[in-house]
Amino acid sequence: MSELKPCPFCGKQVGKVTQHTHTFVKCEKCTAKGPHVSGAKLAREAWNTRAESSSEADAMASAALIARQDAELQRLRDAAQKVVTEIDQMPPSMAAGILCNEILELKSALQQGVGR
Ligand SMILES: [Zn+2]
Repeated sequence: MSELKPCPFCGKQVGKVTQHTHTFVKCEKCTAKGPHVSGAKLAREAWNTRAESSSEADAMASAALIARQDAELQRLRDAAQKVVTEIDQMPPSMAAGILCNEILELKSALQQGVGR
């Protein structure tokens, strides 16, 4: 008897093979159902295949999210570096005015970010 993998939706370890007109594995916690097939062996295999592909999909989604966050962080770093370089080259009175505007823009960007 092949062992059942945890539910791909709630992570609960114990699934149960249910037999009606077709056979399928059902999670006893969140009632997620595996594909309906004929026979307990096929039902277990189908459940385990889906559990695998679901966690793979989750891992890929997480990796994509991290990549997007890294890219956004890099973009912000570049933008900040550009502002610092520009301000370094200005007379102090001009730099002070620009810094004021930057701070106000940053403040409103942060407020929008919090509201999201
Ligand atoms: Zn479940």
